[in-house]
Amino acid sequence: MIRIATYIEDTHPIGFTHCQLRYDYEGTESNPVGYLESIFVRDRYRNKGIARQLLQQCDCELTNTNSFLFHIRTGFKEANRIICFTKRIDHEEGQKIQPETISKILKQRGERKNMSSGLKDISNYDHEKYMQVAIEEATIAGERGDKPIAAVLVHNHKIIGKMSNTWNTRNSKVHHAENHLILENAQYLRKYGKECIIYTTLEPCLMCISTIVMADIRNVVVGLADKYMQTKEFIDSHNWLKDRIFNYLVGIKENACKDLINRYGSERDKIILL
Ligand SMILES: [Zn+2]
Repeated sequence: MIRIATYIEDTHPIGFTHCQLRYDYEGTESNPVGYLESIFVRDRYRNKGIARQLLQQCDCELTNTNSFLFHIRTGFKEANRIICFTKRIDHEEGQKIQPETISKILKQRGERKNMSSGLKDISNYDHEKYMQVAIEEATIAGERGDKPIAAVLVHNHKIIGKMSNTWNTRNSKVHHAENHLILENAQYLRKYGKECIIYTTLEPCLMCISTIVMADIRNVVVGLADKYMQTKEFIDSHNWLKDRIFNYLVGIKENACKDLINRYGSERDKIILL
């Protein structure tokens, strides 16, 4: 129901109110309630009590001080304050959220092409040689009291960097070998990441595999599988990862990597072997 009330003087309308019913209005005890959508009185007729006669129930904007004071003076109590949201839905804005448009933009920018670029054939790399370097680093880590895990970064058959776990040395549970290695070589990887291979004695955790992909490294060579973390299953179930990893080899010098865990790992670490 909508009700328009007008105040007329000498056949001339000088003010009006617009009211209608609203349901479940906060701060009221009855339902529905009469709701004053608007109230208006011509300038020169104001402050003569005309609005009071037109008034039934109403609300006002938070910053509308005149309206707020008007309500208080006429016996209203503030019941609640609300926040209203708006969203542009014009053509240009609408386009930005359409998946097919995103795909089109990526294609135009050549990013899809870039995603598929990088080192694809790693069969001519000496995986055991680089894994052995990682094992030696992991042994050093185990001897110093950190987790016996290490990673090596290789580009064009050259070792660019190596890093072991430093959980205890740095008192940090996020200083995993792969993560730390990537951060230490971030600028190099920005340029050559797609042509690199990362070797790691233990399968990367979910944090590290995400960092590897974020660093554009397309090739991962693993010594020992982490049966607890199940990273391979995680990759296979996420296209974002799967599309960006060209080679994921597991089991290079597996026994030597397993020995590291048995020799230096805690009983809790051995859950990865189960
Ligand atoms: Zn990790």
